[in-house]
Amino acid sequence: MRRRPWASYLKGIDPRKHQRWYTTEKSVTLMSIGKDTIQSMTTEGEVGLAAVQAAARLCEEVRQTMVAGGAQKIDKEDRSPVTVADFGAQALVCRRIRAAFPGDHIVGEEDSAMLRRPENAARLDAVTRFVQREEPQAEAEDVLRWIDEGHGEPTGRYWVLDPIDGTKGFLRQDQYAIALALVESGMIQWGFLACPVLPHAMDTGAILVAQRENGATSFTLDGNERGPVRVSDVVEPADARLAESVESAHTNRGLSAQLQEALGIGHEPVRMDSQAKYVAVARGEAEIYLRSPNPRTPDYRENIWDHAAGWLVVTEAGGRVSDVYGRPLDWAQGRRLEQNIGVVATNGKLHDTVIAALAPLLPPH
Ligand code: AMP
Ligand code: MG
Repeated sequence: MRRRPWASYLKGIDPRKHQRWYTTEKSVTLMSIGKDTIQSMTTEGEVGLAAVQAAARLCEEVRQTMVAGGAQKIDKEDRSPVTVADFGAQALVCRRIRAAFPGDHIVGEEDSAMLRRPENAARLDAVTRFVQREEPQAEAEDVLRWIDEGHGEPTGRYWVLDPIDGTKGFLRQDQYAIALALVESGMIQWGFLACPVLPHAMDTGAILVAQRENGATSFTLDGNERGPVRVSDVVEPADARLAESVESAHTNRGLSAQLQEALGIGHEPVRMDSQAKYVAVARGEAEIYLRSPNPRTPDYRENIWDHAAGWLVVTEAGGRVSDVYGRPLDWAQGRRLEQNIGVVATNGKLHDTVIAALAPLLPPH
């Protein structure tokens, strides 16, 4: 039976007493918390969960009030969009992580350079206003500084952050995720995926939290634990459900179709933006997530922030993740997965079958 000590910390908190357990490497101590809960939340699980919750609240406020008007989108040099919510979410997550763990690095997708330009002053104002709902004392300079705290190097102990994964989905009012992972000793130790608009039973929104060797657990957006998540038991390839990007430029749709044919899959592919696809596999709602470079961008290498949290969530839910050739993902290559091509996540039972079926469809490597 696997232990989930962090989950019992969360359950054991009695907010009325303002007391909270926290661990240090050597000891477990009961401490009192005052008004500034950020300073008091010292376990990685609590800090990570609270950080993605705050970012999810900000993103939902932006989505509900501004997305119809474009959320002051800017196109980056690589032509991918960034919105007020991407900047605000990165500021909030960095602020909380640095307050709790000042020595940690953060490798985030965004930086503040564009927001600092005079022509983007109204955007900076908007970001600051949204951040102030969570951090009332924040001024524009604080927001810019917090965003840039996410420009750390992937060395030592570091957090990997995609403040909005699937910004195109966010702008379409489809799926998006706040993705956060903690890497220590070269291993992903924690993964947090907040999916504010992902359906769950009669409810909307889910946060998946995984700790290495302690399983993956689902929470509501309010942080209430729903319970462990497990991949599906489907073993017949023909019964598998395949998940892939909505954006055809982000994957090789032709390869997905060939794989479906090779395996005799009858279901239509499940198309979703963001790492919500990993959540679908982890929760047993899909068996295969396939991502392979689009033939127009054969040299594309995946960003670590697009996969780190999802990798751990699926792995801890009992699934497997590799690249399209079956190689383990190598997280030690910097900001991109330079030694891997694409990604395949499965329920585990079908992994070898999928990799074997892909082999003749792929160029030799
Ligand atoms: P998805 O929502 O699964 O389509 O993935 C969104 C992510 O795709 C973004 O966060 C980008 O980092 C990433 N991305 C951008 N361009 C490409 C590309 N040409 N191929 C694969 N992924 C890309
Ligand atoms: Mg992303």
